[in-house]
Amino acid sequence: MEDFTYTALPGRVVFGHGTLARIADEVELLGCRRAFVLSDAHHAEGAAATVLQVLGDRVAGFSTEATMHTPVEVTERVLLALQAAAADCLVALGGGSTTGLSKALALRTGLPQIVIPTTYAGSEATPILGQTEQGRKTTLRSPKVLPRTIVYDVDLTLGMPAQLSVVSGMNAMAHAVEALYAKDGNPVTAMLAEQGIAALARALPVIAADTRNADARSDALFGAWACGSCLGTVGMALHHKLCHTLGGSFDLPHAETHTVVLPHVAAFNARSAPQALRRVARALGVDEAGAGLFDLARSLGAPTSLQAIGMFESDLDKAAEIATSAPYWNPRPVDRDAIRALLDDAFHGRRPRN
Ligand code: NAD
Repeated sequence: MEDFTYTALPGRVVFGHGTLARIADEVELLGCRRAFVLSDAHHAEGAAATVLQVLGDRVAGFSTEATMHTPVEVTERVLLALQAAAADCLVALGGGSTTGLSKALALRTGLPQIVIPTTYAGSEATPILGQTEQGRKTTLRSPKVLPRTIVYDVDLTLGMPAQLSVVSGMNAMAHAVEALYAKDGNPVTAMLAEQGIAALARALPVIAADTRNADARSDALFGAWACGSCLGTVGMALHHKLCHTLGGSFDLPHAETHTVVLPHVAAFNARSAPQALRRVARALGVDEAGAGLFDLARSLGAPTSLQAIGMFESDLDKAAEIATSAPYWNPRPVDRDAIRALLDDAFHGRRPRN
């Protein structure tokens, strides 16, 4: 066994079907009485209303304002309502955007959070918060934003459309792929990464054909937790840097961007991190990680080119410039020309080869 350092993150995970019914018990377990409930417009009348019902008189306030990329002005508006409500905890139901709002509020108030994820983004398992202010996205890492409890209710994901399920699942896989070659990688995280990739690779084709398949939904949600935990415990590299640039500067959709870029970065790093990429390929059940990820996305009807998700070819130079303007760690050294070529392949949706 190689030498390693591993810092476990504290947190309670409740996983199963129908777990939403246990939210009041989870609030009590934290020693709390007044929950401020967060969600997004999509869930306002469905699952979020159920949370309000289950919590009953423990609800101190409610907001469905969660917005993609966690704009600071939204956080500040909801913060005023939260303070007026004298809440003692946050309960957030939704995708990564709702979790983002909850984390931004926890950072400012120190309140404990219970997060109920409805996508596979994985933010609930990380001490990371991305926020945007005046169009600029910044990311921070702090134990203050790590949720105390995650309640995974598989039933909440049964209605997720096939397309969102696939891109969100590929977004999750990206955390695990980069965890396998992380500078601070370790055997615990690697174990979770392989399991997470395998669970999602197994589940997504079933879900794409039958969105209400409960076993596949359960596998995928477990995979999302495993991959999110990887993101929470080790540093990321080129893939996350590129997606951050593309999402932040060119307003591309988050999960779709991850889906398009991941196969290219996996192929780009294959020779510099052969063991890690072999583990990715093994988890996918293919010979080559990059081509395998591309084939998976294509076979499930997900976008495979930046062109298809709203990128302009005239912005590729600028994207390569921004993504290489500050140095960061990657198993293969990164230079502007190589990244420009990678972006060209991703833009046109060419199947990557190692
Ligand atoms: P999201 O929360 O914006 O959800 C995407 C869309 O899907 C929204 O319109 C939402 O209403 C809808 N939706 C959510 N759950 C659904 C369901 N079950 N059925 C149908 N529709 C549903 O986006 P996301 O992809 O979950 O997360 C992306 C955001 O999370 C980004 O801002 C990203 O930066 C952040 N993120 C952060 C971390 C972290 O560790 N900090 C990790 C991953 C993602």
